[in-house]
Amino acid sequence: MRYGRMNEEESKIYMGFPGDEPPFYAYEAVQIFGDCGAFPEFVPHSRDGIWLSKNGKRICVPDFTENDPGVRQKLIKREIYVIMSSLTGYVSPWGCMTGVRPAKIVNGLIKSGMSGREAVRELETFYLVSHDKACLALETAQNQERFLNEQHMCPENTAIYIDIPFCPTRCLYCSFTSHPIEKYKKRVGEYLTLLENEMRRVIPLAVSKGYRPESLYIGGGTPTSLSEDDFAHFMDFVTDIIDVPSLKEFSLEAGRPDSITDRKLKRALDAGVTRISINPQTMNDRTLEMIGRKHTAADTERAFYAARSAGFTNINTDIIAGLPGEDTPDFERTLSLIRDMRPDSMTVHTLSVKRAADLRRDPRASSLRHDITGKMLSLAYDAAKEMDMRPFYMYRQKNMLGNLENVSYCRAGCESPYNIHIMEEDQTVLAFGAGGVSKFCSFAEGDGGIGRTIKRSFNVKGVEDYMARSEEMAERKIAMLG
Ligand code: SF4
Repeated sequence: MRYGRMNEEESKIYMGFPGDEPPFYAYEAVQIFGDCGAFPEFVPHSRDGIWLSKNGKRICVPDFTENDPGVRQKLIKREIYVIMSSLTGYVSPWGCMTGVRPAKIVNGLIKSGMSGREAVRELETFYLVSHDKACLALETAQNQERFLNEQHMCPENTAIYIDIPFCPTRCLYCSFTSHPIEKYKKRVGEYLTLLENEMRRVIPLAVSKGYRPESLYIGGGTPTSLSEDDFAHFMDFVTDIIDVPSLKEFSLEAGRPDSITDRKLKRALDAGVTRISINPQTMNDRTLEMIGRKHTAADTERAFYAARSAGFTNINTDIIAGLPGEDTPDFERTLSLIRDMRPDSMTVHTLSVKRAADLRRDPRASSLRHDITGKMLSLAYDAAKEMDMRPFYMYRQKNMLGNLENVSYCRAGCESPYNIHIMEEDQTVLAFGAGGVSKFCSFAEGDGGIGRTIKRSFNVKGVEDYMARSEEMAERKIAMLG
């Protein structure tokens, strides 16, 4: 495996392709190499098909005489990955696999008749995934499948997502719709009123048409950054409009420990919240300050134990591997302190530097450790095992350090149906508030089993835009409810 980023001279690679733009599968294959700084320069209108060159030496990608266009594209993508790997010396732990949901690919292979071992072999030989990652994908897929088999699945089951896009401050790496609440103090009330109107117009109508809310997730942002009165008022509204006792899960993001108070915890419990996320991200105060989170590790511990004493029995903690300035011992320290708290689930993210993040434009982005993040994830896997947790969902994103993954681990019985169904995309999601993405799933029996189609409805992202157009966001969903 090649670590370290390539210098400009050695990374000069060119990719030729017919037409104005590279085919998306070719683009996806070369994007993997952004992690080692070797993204090729594009040469459009090639008469020789797709090729790659370095130091004047051109390697043509075979066109593959394969009838199935999907298979042909996969073969070309794999070949581009192999050539790029030979030109750069870089090997991705996930090989040429670029999708968001590796466990879903494993489940697809198993449903096509493969055993678990055969699915791992397929990941290793076709997608060139490392053995460890192939086994992790299989373990996650099996845990997910076991959980889903125990569930009573109905096509009308629906998830509800509510976005409160405010936080105490904005984290350096944040790419979500999130605004410092202090700045929006005067407009939070207006946002909540419009959000409630959107929900009031859509949820009762959806229920009357047969949609059955199964899980509720209040995220953002940090919903607990609302004032105690606003939070209590909003919880009252939620319990009025949604039949909370009938839900399998009611999850609340309380990500920033400095936004949690005893009164909010009590109000959340009274409203029926079953799962709460208190997210340290790191237990190192120096890093917390650097990434713009105005709280300490001690604040996280205080909030965590307050939630335990209040009666929460399913507490998740999010951490991030690869934060600026952190080395493996820093990450080990975070894991050790989390182990002491004994959460019920732990979600381990790999730092991903997205376009919307301030970190993208920050000089610290150039010194991020692409080389040690994989080791951090292995340590997290071991720590999760020690806490009796198993992986229950995973996903990958663009621009993740080391081309790695995000994995959520939990103790048996603490799985989050909301997160699993979001990963599987097998359930309708009604999303409210700025940036919410609703998905309408419909199912039909066909020759190859049950087929699924998904239609999406996007809410505008910015708070100002949302406040100007919240009626239209409701109308969009109403039109899709039919
Ligand atoms: S707590 Fe989460 S949503 Fe809020 S600023 Fe940080 S990363 Fe963004």
